[in-house]
Amino acid sequence: MKFGTKVIHAGIEPDPSTGAIMTPIFQTSTYVQAAPGEHKGYEYARTQNPTRAVLEKNLAALENGADAICFASGLAAQDAVMKLLTSGDEIISCNDLYGGSYRQMVRVYGKFGIKSKFIDMSDPQFVQDAITPATKLIWIETPTNPMLNLIDIEAVCNVAKKNNILTVVDNTFASPYLQNPLDLGADIVLHSATKYIGGHSDVVHGCLVVKDLDLAAQLHFLQNATGAVPAPQDCFLILRGIKTLHVRVREACNNAAKIAAFLKNHPKVDKVYYPGFESHPNHHIAKKQMRMFGAMVSFDIKGGKVEDAYKVLSNTHLFSLAESLGGVESLIGHPSSMTHASIPREERLKVGLTDSLIRLSIGIEDVDDLIEDLAKAFELL
Ligand code: PLP
Repeated sequence: MKFGTKVIHAGIEPDPSTGAIMTPIFQTSTYVQAAPGEHKGYEYARTQNPTRAVLEKNLAALENGADAICFASGLAAQDAVMKLLTSGDEIISCNDLYGGSYRQMVRVYGKFGIKSKFIDMSDPQFVQDAITPATKLIWIETPTNPMLNLIDIEAVCNVAKKNNILTVVDNTFASPYLQNPLDLGADIVLHSATKYIGGHSDVVHGCLVVKDLDLAAQLHFLQNATGAVPAPQDCFLILRGIKTLHVRVREACNNAAKIAAFLKNHPKVDKVYYPGFESHPNHHIAKKQMRMFGAMVSFDIKGGKVEDAYKVLSNTHLFSLAESLGGVESLIGHPSSMTHASIPREERLKVGLTDSLIRLSIGIEDVDDLIEDLAKAFELL
């Protein structure tokens, strides 16, 4: 089955009791048993829910995995992965990742004796050099957030395999339509399904997808044992969003290419970070592991003045100033005070995340209107 068919059909059957073509929202906390232990595979809704089960099958198919495990948010999905570790273990993570992922690793799991190192993963040798006998997990986010660097998933996974270390790829920025890390050797793919997978900015949700069924069983155990499960209605909304994933992402990527070109030629703009440019240092990696170049674009205002960045951020009308990404509507954000405020300023500056950096999540509106919206905001500088 090709991707555009999978989003609509994989793991999805008409409801056996009614024939409903759409998966029902099974809004129940428990299931009646005919006799003790005699049930239909469902006992209690933290452990199993039919709406969630359909979504998990569909997500597994989208990432070419064997199983998916759904959570109440992307960070709850990350939390389950972290609980595979024990005190004394080390994580090697890329140094330009979502602020909330960093915060959980450092401020929550640091307390339990799990050490996180944040390194430049542009060369797989840097990963090899950072490995110690305590390293148990390698955490990759690519494209990175918000600098839009690319990490060579296959090369880093090869290093991890040689050293018998588990790899996780946060695939939120790419979506399963653009990139499938399990095919490149990753053990676990993570999504904040709040973003492209849901696609309509109306639900917070997370998932993990794996190929290995033993690993899936461990993660399902944690899903049930720690309980950060998604509500059935949220699973329904994610299933509905997925049906147009390929169409939305394709359109957003096409818009992003045009907006990146507009920004590159604008006199008020300094650097533009977009992996689709041939001049982007990781363009060759993007071409190798992604189907299109994504719909996120970051840029710095010429002169680097925070006040100028604030003027642009406060004066777009179609681009809404908000955290998050991946919805049908375009968003504009200020990483240093919003999504990445939890990362210390000196760490942010090390990766080029200046106080005047602006991040765009490009939606599927008409691109001419989006460009005009930005152009008008630049006129105020
Ligand atoms: N990973 C990335 C790349 C993100 O951007 C986010 C949220 O913005 C998360 C993980 C966390 O996901 P959630 O907000 O669904 O908990």
